[in-house]
Amino acid sequence: MPPPSQSVLPPQINPLLIDSLNPATNELNATFDSTQPSQLPKIFESARRAQKEWSPQPASARRAALGNLRDAVFANRDKIADVISRETGKPRVEAIFAEVLLALDTADFVAKRAAQWLRPEKVPHHNLAMKAKSGWLEFNPLGVVAIISPWNYPFSIPMAQVIPALAAGNAVILKPSELTPWSGALIAELCAEAKLPEDLVQVVQGRGDLGAALIASGPNKVFFTGSVATGQRIAEACAKKLIPSSLELGGKDPMIVLADADLNVASSAAVWGSFMNCGQTCISVERIYAEAPIVDQFTKLCVEKTDRLRLGPPSDPDAEVGPMIRPRQLEKVEQQIAEAKKRGARVLTGGDRRPDLGPNFLDPAVVTQVDHSMDLMREETFGPVLAIQMVKNADEAVALANDSPFALSASIWTASRRRGRELASRLNAGSVMINDVASYYGIAEAPHGGSGDSGWGRSHSRLGLLEMVQVKYVDEDRLPRVPKSWWFGYTVELAASGAALVESLFAPSWSQRLHAAMKKDGARGVIFRRNRI
Ligand code: NAD
Repeated sequence: MPPPSQSVLPPQINPLLIDSLNPATNELNATFDSTQPSQLPKIFESARRAQKEWSPQPASARRAALGNLRDAVFANRDKIADVISRETGKPRVEAIFAEVLLALDTADFVAKRAAQWLRPEKVPHHNLAMKAKSGWLEFNPLGVVAIISPWNYPFSIPMAQVIPALAAGNAVILKPSELTPWSGALIAELCAEAKLPEDLVQVVQGRGDLGAALIASGPNKVFFTGSVATGQRIAEACAKKLIPSSLELGGKDPMIVLADADLNVASSAAVWGSFMNCGQTCISVERIYAEAPIVDQFTKLCVEKTDRLRLGPPSDPDAEVGPMIRPRQLEKVEQQIAEAKKRGARVLTGGDRRPDLGPNFLDPAVVTQVDHSMDLMREETFGPVLAIQMVKNADEAVALANDSPFALSASIWTASRRRGRELASRLNAGSVMINDVASYYGIAEAPHGGSGDSGWGRSHSRLGLLEMVQVKYVDEDRLPRVPKSWWFGYTVELAASGAALVESLFAPSWSQRLHAAMKKDGARGVIFRRNRI
């Protein structure tokens, strides 16, 4: 598939400029120059130069630099929350919790832990024949990491990847979403304010064609977060150049509500999990499976709580649910609801546009009588819909939860810890929460990522840091003056001794092993062999 080019852009779009719009009002926030693909060679050259100076810096210097970045985020926290809210439409509370706080915590956590996690790690050898060698792992930088980001968490997602990339000694070229260029520009400003070395973090502004050109320029790693369709294109482009990639893609997260769950808490979680960020979260609750005895009561509570939500622009401090990002996202949600209705689903509340509030508002919807024949239960919705399917029992819920190409995160609601753990181990997901939804994303120690259509690789935690390194194994021989017995000079005796060594190590009975070890010309022949060459 050819990469999108400027010539296929709709005529009203200026390829030289990127606009930041307020989705609550359609007002223009700011306009940014878009980076031209022809500028990339110079950008890469300067990034490589900066990386060469950055990577030999001692751990203490990198830690101090990340501390400065954290302090710059803290000093600008109000402005950051303001920009994010104006560019995405999300309530200020969410901009603070899920963006500013998360970025601060990541910077703090990685700055403190990176040196310890990147220290060379001893590799003990279990094999007797290799005991005379000592080995260790080194975690070296990759070089220049390209980070390509989505619009839904335009600050915390790239920050949670830029920070470990830097901690591991890399330079970064970040391409924010074309829908949230202002948040991306802010990251560049913060890096400058933190006095990170010049050109170490560069932000390029553009659309998909620039993302494709970024990959074609040959970064040492691509860390992508976005849709499945783009992820597939990126995987293909990376494969052609054998560039390693991490792909954080979509989700269709199931929530399983067992009959013994606290329904008041579970319904509040379902409503928040489905409608935070207006449902535009990769780990939002997209499918609910509730056991038959409680499904009616649970549904009633969900409807009541949904009806009490306050919709509005982020300029309204009481607003809990903002607008969707663009009209095409609303259309997709509306299509899924319409298709589900045709197949027998019932919309108990919501699902209608709210032009009285602004151009991209949709009333949060609660939908029942759904099943897996409907797009609503199979494809990512990425909008404010809470869909409940009744199940006979937990086994059916697990089977349905696993009946999806996505495997990002999931949740289980039950009063029994034992059942919660048992079901968690049976779910196909990168993470499972028992009696909570989505909040693991804010735990710096918890890895985030999935499999199948949800992508590959991990962000956050030590595993996220290890995505930013290349691992080198180093081996040191403790007996450098002793030639190795497996070197040339092959003879019948050596073959016999080799066979005896195999027997002495792996024969099923201890007596057979002992016998092989003690045999004349046996295993000892390998150990005490004199090399002919
Ligand atoms: P998107 O795939 O449309 O765009 C993501 C980024 O890719 C943007 O910066 C875009 O300009 C760029 N891009 C587009 N075409 C490209 C190409 N050919 N080569 C290189 N880059 C290209 O996704 P989106 O609409 O911004 O984000 C929403 C999606 O992201 C949802 O599916 C959501 O589930 C997913 N997401 C996943 C996670 C996660 O951690 N798993 C987190 C947030 C969002």
